[in-house]
Order: sequence, then structure tokens, then C-alpha cells
Amino acid sequence: MPDHVPADLPDGVSAGPDRAPRRLLDRQRAAAAAAPPSDAAQRRASLRRLDALLHQDGDRLHAAVSADFGHRAYPETVLAELVPLRAAIGFALRHLGHWMRPRRRRVAWSFQPGTAWVLHQPLGCVGIVSPWNYPLFLSIGPLIDALAAGNRVMLKPSELTPRFSARLAELLAARFEPEQVAVVTGGPEVAQAFCALPFDHLLFTGSTAVGRAVMRAAAETLTPVTLELGGKSPVLVAPDADPVRTARSLMIGKLFNAGQTCIAPDYALVPQHRLPEFTGALLAEAARLYPRIADNPDYTRIISERHLDRLGHLVDEAAERGAAVLRDPAHQAEGDRPRLSGRMVPTLLLGAPDDSEAMRDEIFGPVLPVLGYRTLDEAIALVNRRPRPLALYCYTDDRDTERHVLRHTLSGGATVNGTILHCAQPDLPFGGVGPSGTGAYHGETGFLRFSHARGIYRPGRISGFTTLAPPHGRLSARLLPLMLGRRRSRPAS
Ligand code: NAD
Repeated sequence: MPDHVPADLPDGVSAGPDRAPRRLLDRQRAAAAAAPPSDAAQRRASLRRLDALLHQDGDRLHAAVSADFGHRAYPETVLAELVPLRAAIGFALRHLGHWMRPRRRRVAWSFQPGTAWVLHQPLGCVGIVSPWNYPLFLSIGPLIDALAAGNRVMLKPSELTPRFSARLAELLAARFEPEQVAVVTGGPEVAQAFCALPFDHLLFTGSTAVGRAVMRAAAETLTPVTLELGGKSPVLVAPDADPVRTARSLMIGKLFNAGQTCIAPDYALVPQHRLPEFTGALLAEAARLYPRIADNPDYTRIISERHLDRLGHLVDEAAERGAAVLRDPAHQAEGDRPRLSGRMVPTLLLGAPDDSEAMRDEIFGPVLPVLGYRTLDEAIALVNRRPRPLALYCYTDDRDTERHVLRHTLSGGATVNGTILHCAQPDLPFGGVGPSGTGAYHGETGFLRFSHARGIYRPGRISGFTTLAPPHGRLSARLLPLMLGRRRSRPAS
């Protein structure tokens, strides 16, 4: 795959002649005021345009992402970005008509005769801020839902993937008027100004720390937010789990995109007496998936030297605090970081203390702390002592254990006997809970997220409300007690 994309990229690039984000928003608002809200046919046409972009330019977008990463494995862009996005568009195209239909609601008996229904209307102009780790999926994913709901969108991708952002801006500008979809690029200052704009909704995907600042900025304009944040997603390996099957599935999810995944398994809880068996299986699986590290085209690089340093520090600090650092001998033999060309050897940390950085911070790389537990309830308690995670994974073939774990924990989403995969299901809501996020999207949930659910009531010609109006006489005296569930009228005091 050619990694050719120009490197000299100006900040503040936007999909249109007008570069200032505020002016872009004004233009989108003016366009919204001048035209009726889009109908199903127009929304489908927008979604098809997006699909054509992914179909025709997916490889160019991959090349840009790969250049930004130094190297991103091509199958990972296909499997985690292009395929689920095109599936999400197909899903929206199939179900949009149904989602847009007015939804009939019940009318309370005392307001009969009458009709009540909910109409889902576009919110207006939506802002989307996305991170670098899956830059395409996390920009276009919310865009699909926002367009399906009939909105206009301004998108601010991450400054850590500048080639991708410039390419995306160019490709979207070729297919959408800036009044409908516009891209704004730049670093944290541009992002800050972007999040201060009075959007009708702001969807932010990124770290919990920045999410806090985004919510503060949005509060100033009372802009409703969806926050898709990070956190430490645990893996609970139940006592009955098969080590080889579990290790294979867990390591595929952990090492995908070199662990730079918001819902990557962050740490694993394993029955104490089976620790050697499991750690052996995990290392063997890492070596089977990636027999070599340096220059392995299947293994994605860490996004930057700074991120690589952070991961190295995380491992060193855990080791200083008494954790055992485990690597497969074949990987260990490959040697030092410069030769590994920006890649990091898959690493297990055994017995990292609770207050070590590896157990406090989100890992976001190919490092997996493994902890032993004595009883399943002890493991559940350990998960529940921590902030509510974005995802939780449970390995068991026993349905009672599965139910027990799911019932006694709470996370944004979960996959049983697998990792990551719940995120790719177009009919499942995706989002966090508490510190891992606010609100969800994908599929119908995304359509609803970016729509205003407008409750509408139409009374019949004979309406209780007009019948029971002043001046109150005998009819009121008879009916009011009935409405209160009393059989007889009581004299008014
Ligand atoms: P980040 O929070 O550093 O940056 C995300 C975006 O926020 C970027 O576009 C950046 O320009 C912008 N930004 C930076 N400073 C800002 C500010 N002060 N105000 C407003 N916006 C600002 O996150 P990142 O390093 O790009 O991504 C990694 C994090 O994102 C991890 O914590 C990961 O778990 C999380 N994440 C979450 C999801 C999810 O769906 N929940 C998906 C991917 C990544």
C-alpha cells in the first residue's frame, strides 16, 4: 500500500473557502434556515455518497492513516474501519424509513379521545471531535448517524493523524457542500475553540481528561454532549474458561492496532491457581499471531515516540514496584526499541500493584497486566471498585457464570467469549457509562441521539380539557372525583 501523502499540512483546513469554524457554523445554520429539513430520500443520497467515498477512496484513506502511524496493518483498517462503516451505512439505508416514521404513543384515558405520537426531527448542526486511533471509524461513524438523522455536520479530526485529516477534508469536500458537511483541522487550540461553538449537539471521542474540558466548554452554550471516552476495560476469565481458546481470542483483541483501541482488553483477572497456564498461553498466542515484531507488516506501530516512551515507562514503573515482566522468548530475542521500528513487544505484567501506573491509567498499547483472583466474586468486587469501564469481557462456557458476571457489573458494553466485537454490531448501542462516557450511538441509537424526540398530542373534537374548563359546575363536580379515583364527590372545603 503506498504511504504517499503530502507532509506539509496547514492547520485550520476546512472543506470550503471559508476557514473559520464559527463562520462555517453560521453558514450551516443559514442553509438550514433556508431549506426544509431533509427527507428520507435526501438522507439516503447523503449516505450513499459516503459509501461511495469509502468504496472508492478507502485505500487512499488507509495510506494516509498508515503514513500517520508510521505503519498501520492494512487488514486492520479494512476490518475495523472500512467494513463496519459500510455495514453501518447499509444498516441505516435499510432501516431509515422505519426510524423516521412517526411513532404512536398511548393516550391517558382522561385525555381520550386524542392521539399522541413522537416525531424525530433533526437537531440542526452537529459537531464531531474524533481521536487518532481509529480516525476513519470514529469520524465517519458518528457522521453516518448524524446524516441519517438529517443534520448538518462539522468534523474535527485529531491533529495526531494530519495526513488522514487532510485527505478526509479533501474527499468530503468533493462530495458534500460545506453547508452540509465540513472538516476543520488543527490542534488542541482549534479543538478548544471548536468545542466552544454553540452546536445543537456535540459528540466528542477521546480521553476522559479532555472529555471533562469538553463538557465544561459545552456547558457555557448549553450544548448537549455525547462523550465517548476511555478507561480500563477488564477481562474476567472465569474458572471454567479454556486457556488456549481464551488466550487466542483475548490476544487478537489486545494486539489489534497494537493495543491502541479504546475497548481493548486493559487488564485480565485470572483464577490464581491457573495463572502459569494462562500467562503461558497468552505469550504463546502473541508469538503465534506475530512471530516477529520488527518490520512485521501485520503489526501496527505505536502512533508516536512520545506514546512509545509512555508505554515503556509504564512497564518500568510496574517492574520497579515488584511486577514480573513477561515476554515470549522469541520476541525478547528481537532486542531493543530502535530495531523494532516504532513497534512494541507484547508484554504481560504479572502482579502489578493496584496503585501502579499500569493499574491506574488506561494502557492503550500492547501491555497486559494479569492479576490472580481466588473467587469470582472477589474478581467482580475488584472490577466494581474501579471507575465504570467502557467495555467488559468475560470468558466462560457456563451461562449461569455469564449471567452472574453481567448482572453484578456495569460497563458501557460487553462481549462474552470475545473482545471488541460488540462495537461492530450495527444494531447495538455503543457508548460508555460514568467516567467512560455519556450517551451512546450506532444504528437506531445513533439516529435517536442526533434527533429531537418531539412529543405531539392532538385532542379529539370532544376534549376533556375544554369540557372541564371554568366556570366549574355540576359536570366538574362529578368528573373531578372520578379522575382522582374516588367514587363519590366530596364537598369542597
Ligand atoms: P484526546 O482526548 O487527546 O484527543 C481527542 C480529540 O480531542 C482530538 O481531536 C483533539 O484535537 C481534541 N482535543 C484536544 N484537546 C482538547 C481540548 N482542550 N478541548 C477540546 N478538544 C480537545 O484523545 P486521543 O489521544 O486522540 O485518543 C485516545 C483516547 O480516546 C483514549 O482515552 C481512548 O480510550 C479514547 N477513545 C475512546 C473511544 C470511544 O469510542 N469511547 C474511541 C477511541 C478512543
